[in-house]
Order: sequence, then C-alpha cells, then structure tokens
Amino acid sequence: MSGNHTGNDTGRERAGGTHARHQRDSTAGPVDGKVASGTAAKTVLVASPRGFCAGVSYAIEIVDLVLDHYGPPVYVRHEIVHNRHVVDRLRGRGAIFTDDLSTVPAGSLLIFSAHGVSPSVRKEASAQKLRVIDATCPLVTKVHLEALRYAREDYEILVIGHRGHVEVEGTLGHAPDRMQLVETVEDVDALEIRDPARIGVVTQTTLSVDDTREVLDAICRRFPDVQTPNTDDICYATQNRQTAVKELARRCQLVLVMGSPTSSNANRLVEVAKIHGAVARLIEHADDIDSSWLDSVGVVGLTAGASTPESLVQATINRLCSLGCDSVEALETAEEHVTFALPHEIR
Ligand code: SF4
Repeated sequence: MSGNHTGNDTGRERAGGTHARHQRDSTAGPVDGKVASGTAAKTVLVASPRGFCAGVSYAIEIVDLVLDHYGPPVYVRHEIVHNRHVVDRLRGRGAIFTDDLSTVPAGSLLIFSAHGVSPSVRKEASAQKLRVIDATCPLVTKVHLEALRYAREDYEILVIGHRGHVEVEGTLGHAPDRMQLVETVEDVDALEIRDPARIGVVTQTTLSVDDTREVLDAICRRFPDVQTPNTDDICYATQNRQTAVKELARRCQLVLVMGSPTSSNANRLVEVAKIHGAVARLIEHADDIDSSWLDSVGVVGLTAGASTPESLVQATINRLCSLGCDSVEALETAEEHVTFALPHEIR
C-alpha cells in the first residue's frame, strides 16, 4: 500500500467548485434581529452548513472501511479528527491512535490523520515497514504541494498558522530549511528574508480569509512582491462555517458551538461569534447545556465545528426543545457539495 494519494487533490466534486454559493434561507426571516430579553417564546436557529466537512467525512470513512476490510487492529497516527465522540467510536471498533510510530509493530496498517504529516513521518513509517493509507485531507495535501513547488523554485515560504498545531507541523516539515511560521503582525516585522522578491505564502487550512487577513496584509506591505495564496487555497468549509456563525451572532443572543476543546475550527467559531456580538459557548454534548443559559434568550443559535457528527447536533436540538425552545429554524448561508474520492487502496 502506498502512503501518498495526491491524485485526490482534485476531488470528486470539483465540478461544483469548492466554494459554495451563498444562499439565504427564507425561513430565517422571522427571527431577523435580536429578540428582546425576557421574550417567552424561544427559537433555535440552526446554521447550515455546519459540522462535518468533506475532509473529515473522507478521513472517517477511510478508517471505517479499513477496519471493515482488514479488521482490527488498525493504527492511526494522531486522532483521525479532533472530536472525542468520533475517536471513541473508532477506538471501540479496534482503531489504535498514537503519535509515536515506534510503538507500532512492523507490518501493521497505519492511517495518517486528516491533518497530514511531514515527509519525515512518511520516512519513519517506511523504515518501520508499516503499510500506510493516507487520510490527509486533499486540501491539506494541496498546501503541501504548493510548499514543495515554492521550495523547488527557490522561494522562501511563510506559513500563516498556529504554532504547535498538528497540521502546521506537517506543513513545516515539507521544506524545513526554507519555511518560517508567522502567527502575528509582530512576527512579520521580525522576519529576516534572504530575497524579498522570492517569497511565497501558504496557510493553515482551518484559518479563514478573515483569520489570515491581518497577517497577510502585513506581509504584503513589507514584501510587495510576495506570492500570496490563491482564493482556491482557502478551505471552503472553514470559510462557510465562519460566515454562518457570523449570521447567527447577528440574529441570536446566545450561540452554541458544538465541538471538542481540541478542535481548532470549533474554538475559532466561538471566537467569531463573540467578535460579532453574541454570547457564545463551546459544548461537546447536549448535556453540557446549563438551563440558566437560556434565561432571557429569545433566539439560540446552534452550529458545529467541522469534526462534529450531526447526531450530536440533533441531540442538542432535542435538549433545547426539552428546555422550552418551541421552534427550530434553519439559517442557510451556503450550499456545499464537496466530496473527495477515496484512496485507490480501498476503493
Ligand atoms: S476543514 Fe477543510 S482542510 Fe480541514 S479537513 Fe475539512 S475540508 Fe479539509
């Protein structure tokens, strides 16, 4: 089995485009504008799109299919996606999650997580004679390929992202002697660059256009000849979920975001909702809701990070209804039709 399937970079869906069209759902009309405190009737306004993105569905499907086909144990480097519910379910089926490949017996099946890995991890897996199946999201692979292209063309590469995030570590490993991580405008000011005419930029996929704008603007001001990422490089799912949560924040007094505390994109949805004026809370399960949160709230917004299963969202809607919410409405800000073809080893 091969560890690389960059052919998936194009994905099965691309005909529809990775950037969904925005489409306002007319059902959102009646709750436009924040409802005054003390309103008795409560509405749940559920964001669409929400939850699983194509990359997460792809990675989970790969683990399930490999377990179906080969049986346990199947080793997975890192949590396949940052969601405890998903990881626990797969662990129950016989998946073993590890960050330390030295603990994986030679000859075992090893799946790389959706976040991607650096070439050194691929080499380590190969040296240990592991049979690799790659569940790296094709949009992450696309960033890796861009970094390699820049390196081949003798560019220095700036990576906009969060230090220590597993995806960023994988990206930085693709040209370690040519890459610098920039998290803030201060980082941009401190950069030492060999040739300002040969700089390329790539970004962590779980950052949206808005997230990267400030740092990217600072880079462009300091280095006017920089090669910036194409709009195609921005992950459609990250952008769409943030657009939706902004709308929720505008219409709701309380926004609940479902996701694990380790999920970068779910935490970011909470931040975006707060920035846009709502009280926002991250919850993992329906039971995390304290009924007092709903006091004096007329419209409760609900969304979910890209690694949160829809079953958890539905359970939360049921819980909100049991706590006195008497209508559930959709707020649709985009349509998504993206899917990725599975690696050839398991088709
Ligand atoms: S958030 Fe985007 S880049 Fe990350 S796994 Fe999902 S589709 Fe891929």
